[in-house]
Amino acid sequence: MRSSTRPSRLLSIDIDLENSRLGFRGKWLPLSVKRSERTTFGLTVNPDQEVILRVPLTAGDESIDRFLDRKENWISRQLTHFEQFQPKTPERRYISGETHYYLGKPYRLRINHCPRWAIKPGRYFIVIETPRPDRSDLIREHFQAWLKEQSHEVFNEIHSRLEHEFSGKLGYWLPEPNIRHYRSIWAQYDSQAGTYTLNYRLVQASVASIEYVILHEVCHRKYPVHNKRFYNLLDTFMPDRVQRKMELEKMMV
Ligand SMILES: [Zn+2]
Repeated sequence: MRSSTRPSRLLSIDIDLENSRLGFRGKWLPLSVKRSERTTFGLTVNPDQEVILRVPLTAGDESIDRFLDRKENWISRQLTHFEQFQPKTPERRYISGETHYYLGKPYRLRINHCPRWAIKPGRYFIVIETPRPDRSDLIREHFQAWLKEQSHEVFNEIHSRLEHEFSGKLGYWLPEPNIRHYRSIWAQYDSQAGTYTLNYRLVQASVASIEYVILHEVCHRKYPVHNKRFYNLLDTFMPDRVQRKMELEKMMV
């Protein structure tokens, strides 16, 4: 097995060779594998986000998997680059009526002018009490701080539950999550330290998606890279992992 000193990220693309497609941020994109008389692998991403892989006639699935695994960061960067030309969701403005997700459920924000800051989740609304209803930058800051605070409790609870279910099967205690902010990834595994870190914004995703991310990261202690054995292990524990991941990507776009 390739030893990895760089931290491995949560896979940002799903490779589905069987159906010639690639999952990226909640969408399936076409993946064409073209065989020809050549000795090397070649990879192209089109502006319409089609991924084309050129391989020698003799290339087996295992070597194609390994190649795509190595190129995952590159493919993800290309897709992200071309994505800026695709339709986009608007920036968050932190005003009354705007929808924000918490634990996979949509809530409307309600901004109330009050002497003190407070954040109160209800059934359909998240009420933000603020002395500065005109300052959406401060509202954003307070709301993010609140999410971060909630994330500790939520992640620890899910972690304990997964530990109970899977630590026996894995043969080790699951490492506890560190929590921080990342701009563009959900989680990161540090193979040298054997620990992992979650993006606190994951608390906006459904419990099913959070479970997927945590299980994914803790399975890296057994297999640090995204190889076939890693995915086989994940599939055994969580047969619907692709759906859970797609759901996550769709929500967080
Ligand atoms: Zn991973």
